[in-house]
Amino acid sequence: MNLIEISEKFPNEIDCIEHAERVRFGNKPKCAYCGSKTLSKRNSDFRHRCKDCKKGTAVTVNTHLHNTRIPLKTWFYAISVITDAKKGMSALQLQRNISVSYPTAFRLYHKLRAVMMEENKNIDELSGIVEMDEVFIGGKPRKMNTPHITFDSENPNVRIAAAKGKTRKELDDQIEYLENAGWDFSPMGHNRANIDAKNQRGARGAGRIPVVGIVQRNGNVIATVMENLTYTNLKDMVKKYVAEDESVLITDNYAGYNSMKKIIEHLKIDHNQLYSYKGVNSNTIESFWAIIERGIMGQYHSVSPRMLPNYVAEFVYKYNNRKDNEGMFHELIYKLLQPINL
Ligand SMILES: [Zn+2]
Repeated sequence: MNLIEISEKFPNEIDCIEHAERVRFGNKPKCAYCGSKTLSKRNSDFRHRCKDCKKGTAVTVNTHLHNTRIPLKTWFYAISVITDAKKGMSALQLQRNISVSYPTAFRLYHKLRAVMMEENKNIDELSGIVEMDEVFIGGKPRKMNTPHITFDSENPNVRIAAAKGKTRKELDDQIEYLENAGWDFSPMGHNRANIDAKNQRGARGAGRIPVVGIVQRNGNVIATVMENLTYTNLKDMVKKYVAEDESVLITDNYAGYNSMKKIIEHLKIDHNQLYSYKGVNSNTIESFWAIIERGIMGQYHSVSPRMLPNYVAEFVYKYNNRKDNEGMFHELIYKLLQPINL
């Protein structure tokens, strides 16, 4: 639901509270502590007093929203804005949209991402034609038109003035050396990445964090941060998320996938040769990567490795619910209001 629909349906805080109470308790509000239905009238702070256990109770007690100082209306609006933003948004944009402070917007967004991550665990096993691929997040965007220097000459000995008279070959070597050490000279990158270079798949992945994804054509996606792209880790991911006996796996020819044929029907396509052959391609997972890359690099600027799984979870969740925007809104509210052990 978009913001206009939300504001028409839930114009005031009390509308949001009553909706939340129906979601959590059904037709009649209960005490969140003892379950009693004998509650006082709502106080001016919207809380009830329980006539049995004498505690002040509210619909948010013992939920993800316990102790939230943000009005429920703000949560509702934030969920609407976030689920509507197909490409994700920055906390800064969210802050402007719902009129809260930056730290509040940031915390709220991350709480929602954590709920999305939990929800992603309930995805049905993937089956049918499934495409698996890996991407490196945190460096320069792939396949995007970034400004680049063109050289007049292919001669590797031509002097490049900008690099203090180094030859092109010398500069190339130095850049390659530094990139392998984790430096990122791309327009988006400015820091030394703290990912161990030995975990990378050659210079292509230097300074970036590997994320592996599997998508079922016309179905769901799962994606996870994977520090080591070994066969064992990749195989475990397939076993966990894919119905091996009912599926055909398509990957590129990265060596980590070489032994997949042991557990699943496996087709490889060599991207050095061609991208698609008789419908064998990884176009579906590639289009998911495009969403992630645009989202994370375009909107978030820098994502700390610690936070990356949460960002990935948001895009997985949105992809899998892409046909049900309103369902996402209601599901997130439902999840936020589930009793949790505090
Ligand atoms: Zn009570």
